[in-house]
Amino acid sequence: MARIVTRVEYDVVRILMVINIWWLGVKLYKNPRTAYKVVKRLISNFQDMIGNKKLVRAFEIEGKYSWDMFNPAWPTPGFNTFFTSHLQEIKPTDQSQLGLRRLLIAITKRCPLACEHCSEAGTLYNNDVLSCEEFVSRIDKYVKQGVGQLIYSGGEPLSRFNDLITLISRYKLRCDQWIYTSGFGLTLEKAHQLKQAGLNGAAISLDNHVEQNHNMFRGSSKSFFWVHDAVKNLQEAGVLVALNVCPTKTYIESAGVEELIELAKKWNVQIVNLLEPRAVGNYQDQDVELNVAHKDRLKKISDQFNFDRAYLNYPTVLYPAGYRAAKACGGGISYLFLDYDGTLYPCPFCKVKMPEIQQKAALCEA
Ligand code: SF4
Repeated sequence: MARIVTRVEYDVVRILMVINIWWLGVKLYKNPRTAYKVVKRLISNFQDMIGNKKLVRAFEIEGKYSWDMFNPAWPTPGFNTFFTSHLQEIKPTDQSQLGLRRLLIAITKRCPLACEHCSEAGTLYNNDVLSCEEFVSRIDKYVKQGVGQLIYSGGEPLSRFNDLITLISRYKLRCDQWIYTSGFGLTLEKAHQLKQAGLNGAAISLDNHVEQNHNMFRGSSKSFFWVHDAVKNLQEAGVLVALNVCPTKTYIESAGVEELIELAKKWNVQIVNLLEPRAVGNYQDQDVELNVAHKDRLKKISDQFNFDRAYLNYPTVLYPAGYRAAKACGGGISYLFLDYDGTLYPCPFCKVKMPEIQQKAALCEA
């Protein structure tokens, strides 16, 4: 189970992480002063994004520290690879370096659920196209180019469990690795297998704190049970757990998000990640996108739990869309989505091949 890290310990860890990133810069640029300037810019970008506030907590598992699910734990090889690419993104050493930090991979379109909001509805339940070896040959190229974080999704990645274990084991010593899962069928035995293979974190989807409502949203009477079981099993195995939440307008208006955060606290979940509903997949052409008032409310909730020490014993509440005002989406720049048939997209929601993406993909194919 993760331990909450605060105050002096967190301050010391932060300083050591910055020194670590600076040292990566020294090795990259062969110049301490250049490294200092680029790291300063990286920190300043991060501070701008979070509004110059200070996160109140981080988490520690087995001597590795994390503060969210988008940056690898420190100290790990994945952290070094990820931040070397981040420095490359700010100041490239040469044009062949992509600065790509994260790769999301849909390893299957099989899934036991039928969710109301599924963005993959158009291809869901299709047969697998790429073999595990074909995934390996594609992922290897990105890892070689400096990708430091791999996220396996689907469909439901657990539906292809043996291949998932093979992939995680392969990149164990190079990358930070997560799964985006419904938790369906994630027994204690499987949790231990995932941990042993090298899994660092799991983001489990939970969209309503009321069992019946979540099950209705997910199209399965057993979904809520498996979310809770998967949380417990992964925590026992020593994997960092987050809850991915896709709150509808009605759910936000009825203060459901706050209730869900209370439930996450009760379950000792460290991170709640708020994702906005998008008018794609099953929601195509529907009026599901949040208005300014909904977004403001989510941002306020996120700030409250992340920066106010009165909520120290609560989870960190991420709201990536809330940072867009200060920082553009990194889809196609710092991360890419590799679909089940090998097609590359900027992200799982923007299924558009953009010229830069093709260019970057071409570089990777070289
Ligand atoms: S949202 Fe995820 S879990 Fe739900 S049906 Fe789609 S792929 Fe399956």
